[in-house]
Amino acid sequence: MLNLVLFGPPGAGKGTQSALLIDKYNLVHLSTGDIFRYNMKENTELGILAKSYIEKGALVPDEVTIAMLEAEVNSNSKAKGFIFDGFPRTHKQAEALDTFLASKGTAISAMLALEVEVEELVVRLLERGKSSGRADDQNPKIIKNRIQVYDNETAILKDYYSAQNKFVGVKGVGSITDITSSLCKEIDTLI
Ligand code: AMP
Repeated sequence: MLNLVLFGPPGAGKGTQSALLIDKYNLVHLSTGDIFRYNMKENTELGILAKSYIEKGALVPDEVTIAMLEAEVNSNSKAKGFIFDGFPRTHKQAEALDTFLASKGTAISAMLALEVEVEELVVRLLERGKSSGRADDQNPKIIKNRIQVYDNETAILKDYYSAQNKFVGVKGVGSITDITSSLCKEIDTLI
């Protein structure tokens, strides 16, 4: 199996690039943010809970997020591999993912990290907010909080995957096509 963590701060382009990569490599795209938003739209119990965190730019608790992610993987039992987008975001999530994948006889192949300067992230998120309808993309204070949460809780995962020799940094600035090519070059070394 090819299991990729597509990593980077909010606005790095994880969703855009995931959508382009899944067809080429025949992978299933699991975006925890998308799954939460779907549940919010459907007003499920999970959606109502997630909303209270997402609208502040805070992380949804690990237990809830991990259980949801594992259920999604389980419901795609025929998948040839996954792109995890927006997960893991904490050390606890990364450990849970490793344990869970090991129980299925597989593992993360690599973490591909899109690297983008913070000033560019804010510009991109505010621009996306004009069309996405996402409240958390429209408020500079919430955006700042999301980036701070990334710096405080998520960025450390680079060390986690580096220790496993699985960290790959990719420049996330430039044309979408060029960034896809850089990612593909790295993925091709894994297969
Ligand atoms: P995203 O679409 O990845 O930017 O995620 C939007 C929001 O969903 C985040 O700001 C968090 O509130 C929540 N979220 C998404 N993924 C996770 C995760 N792995 N752990 C906790 N919260 C998450």
